Amino acid sequence: MAHVITSPCMEEKASICSEVCPVDAIQEGDKQFYIDPNTCIDCGACIIQCPVSAIFYEEEVPEDEIGYIQKNAEFFSRV
Ligand code: SF4
Repeated sequence: MAHVITSPCMEEKASICSEVCPVDAIQEGDKQFYIDPNTCIDCGACIIQCPVSAIFYEEEVPEDEIGYIQKNAEFFSRV
């Protein structure tokens, strides 16, 4: 399991999440930030920092944002 960044990030890209992540799992893409599912330790620190509530524990991602689980994983398979 991991945490996942969803669509509200695309309007915001605040970057505070990446500054608080203790394992450097969050990286910036062209349109949003992404969480590496293989690095995230599920500490939850990023959730409370996100000003647009874009970050969810994987099992709690809203139904209409489910595609972002794959989108986050794919970002790191390309880099
Ligand atoms: S839950 Fe913790 S480890 Fe995972 S991305 Fe957020 S701050 Fe980083």
